[in-house]
Amino acid sequence: MTFELTAEHEAFRKVVRDFAEAEIAPHAHRWDREHHFPVDVVRQMGDLGLFGIVAPEEYGGAGGDFTSLCVAIEELGRVDQSMGITLSAGVGLGINPILSFGSAEQKERFLPDLVAGRALAGFGLTEPEAGSDAGATRTRARLEGGEWVIDGSKAFITNSGTEITTVVTVTARTGQTADGRPEISAVLVPSGTPGFTVEPAYDKLGWHASDTHGLTFDGARVPEDHMLGRRGDGFKQFLAILDDGRIAISALAVGLAQACLEQSRAYALERQAFGKPIGANQGLAFQVADLQVMVEAARLLTYKAAWLKDEGRPHEQVKRAAAVAKVYSTEAATSAARIATQVFGGYGFMEEYPVARFYRDAKILEIGEGTSEIQRLVIARSLGLPVE
Ligand SMILES: Cc1cc2nc3c(=O)[nH]c(=O)nc-3n(C[C@H](O)[C@H](O)[C@H](O)COP(=O)(O)OP(=O)(O)OC[C@H]3O[C@@H](n4cnc5c(N)ncnc54)[C@H](O)[C@@H]3O)c2cc1C
Repeated sequence: MTFELTAEHEAFRKVVRDFAEAEIAPHAHRWDREHHFPVDVVRQMGDLGLFGIVAPEEYGGAGGDFTSLCVAIEELGRVDQSMGITLSAGVGLGINPILSFGSAEQKERFLPDLVAGRALAGFGLTEPEAGSDAGATRTRARLEGGEWVIDGSKAFITNSGTEITTVVTVTARTGQTADGRPEISAVLVPSGTPGFTVEPAYDKLGWHASDTHGLTFDGARVPEDHMLGRRGDGFKQFLAILDDGRIAISALAVGLAQACLEQSRAYALERQAFGKPIGANQGLAFQVADLQVMVEAARLLTYKAAWLKDEGRPHEQVKRAAAVAKVYSTEAATSAARIATQVFGGYGFMEEYPVARFYRDAKILEIGEGTSEIQRLVIARSLGLPVE
């Protein structure tokens, strides 16, 4: 039994950390303040191979494991959560659906640029009135003259409106199943399709440098062959995509908690009060000790889930491990951000200190890709409880 990543994973971690500290950390505060999405840095992340970690070589990827992707997300998230989620969503919600369910033609058309980081794709599942209950989607797609005609709207879609976004995968009702339930399918809608409008960016609490938009479809037409996978498979597809995404968000949370730990430790040694470092007080030192506990536990749960996935363990096992990792790591991250701002005192409330940004960025981790309540629902069901 081993609890350590391989030497290759650790060497890769160092490469991503060096990149993140040189190219992202010095600018993260400004991008956050200016709500700036740094396309040039996304392209650099592409040049480093980050978007292609798990993609097969035939599309320009490295054919690596999911654990490596988590390492990269953790390391970007340690300096800037916005760039961490850009990678996480770019791969998990952008590339993954096309890679997992796309036709040969769809893969040929979209994957090379997405894998190289020259382009981004979004995944439009959530709607203004259907989030946790994503099966209640109201967006409709009907076949007319060999084209899907799409009407409806989506909310909070990451990477959907950048200047390099080429396509959004959209879930829509395409009919009814034999037992009277909505038939849900996924359709690829290229950017610039007439009738497809990317609404202005949201004014968010955090993730200011990440791209998030509402989307409107008003008779948007795409050819029939833009359906992703089989008609009616949309529900199954997005559940599978979210399982992986939850492990990735867990890794992003580990990065945030790790940053809070490192910065709190350094400040506890340096800041003087009552003639001694604040870390000499048990009341404060114990809070920093708690951060170490949270980081270790969150990291173990995250990489265990990633390992189960890489090992090809049964889906139900991976699904529960992903939910367990996400709920623990994201709640640990919000606690870690609260503790870190407390350790920094008044300076923790000042935007020039990264802990203030992490405090704002932490909350969404408990919401995106399935809220904490939805994770607990998944876990409770896996325990055989008859919870609705
Ligand atoms: C910045 C950002 C980026 C996002 N990116 C994407 C994206 O790229 N693609 C995408 O499709 N979506 C995206 N989302 C949407 C996100 O996944 C949803 O916001 C999330 O799933 C919750 O849905 P909701 O907002 O509709 O909340 P609701 O589903 O309305 O939930 C409201 C509250 O009710 C609780 N609740 C709901 N049902 C239950 C239940 N059965 N039991 C107990 N409690 C329950 C929830 O946990 C929550 O606390 C993003 C959101 C944000 C804020």
